[in-house]
Amino acid sequence: KLASREFKKEDTVITIGDVKIGGKEIQVMAGPCAVESREQLLEVARLAKKGGARILRGGAFKPRTSPYSFQGLEEEGLKYLAEAREQTGLLIVSEVIDPRDVELVAKYVDILQVGARNMQNFALLRAVGKANKPVLLKRGISATIEEWIMAGEYILAEGNENVMFCERGIRTFETFTRNTLDLSAVPIIKQLTHLPIIVDPSHGTGKWKLVNAMSKGAIACGADGLIVEMHPEPSEALSDGPQSLKPEKYEELMKELQVVASAV
Ligand code: PEP
Ligand code: MN
Repeated sequence: KLASREFKKEDTVITIGDVKIGGKEIQVMAGPCAVESREQLLEVARLAKKGGARILRGGAFKPRTSPYSFQGLEEEGLKYLAEAREQTGLLIVSEVIDPRDVELVAKYVDILQVGARNMQNFALLRAVGKANKPVLLKRGISATIEEWIMAGEYILAEGNENVMFCERGIRTFETFTRNTLDLSAVPIIKQLTHLPIIVDPSHGTGKWKLVNAMSKGAIACGADGLIVEMHPEPSEALSDGPQSLKPEKYEELMKELQVVASAV
């Protein structure tokens, strides 16, 4: 299998401009759950950059549980993301939820995100596999590690070698947290594959108060980076406010991460 360690012994390092994912450096992708407005996004991009992240996250197409919830700004949101990149030099990661939108999203972003709900959307996996952009593949809500790796295999099989996995928590009997963040997935992915692994402590816990501890834990476990939700005013966020860091908590985290990163 193309993803396996047997197929390729050395770690895959995904290079985008001067940003390397899977190398020695830890990469942080920070930003709001959803792109809500031009003002919100440009402000959050400035804050993300100031804290030291190299990559800005923000959903323009949102896979919401309810069809009546905010679905995202779609192409307008992608335009704001591209504007934020121009202003800050940050790379952009954003989700694509429909195979028919892959070309459109790929036109604006640097990394295509496949969300947990679409991990086994094989038409989408094949479509991002044909795209000329790295892919961040989130673990399905109830997916085994084997199923997740095989989903990655669909992308690789189409010729796209730049796949990174993202552990974002799985559904268990626990209800205190939104999901149960499976940090054991980090060393397991490292053992079984040559591809980078990113951890999402925001969706992994659902609670901003747990994000700092789980982020540091993820880096200590060997993760190549984090994807963290941050919002200028979490109480006013249109989605995932309870798990979004305030800018000052984000800055604190970024400082503490350096200490952990230098120790691993
Ligand atoms: C997100 O990153 O905002 C998101 C919807 O994540 P997930 O697919 O992990 O739920
Ligand atoms: Mn979210």
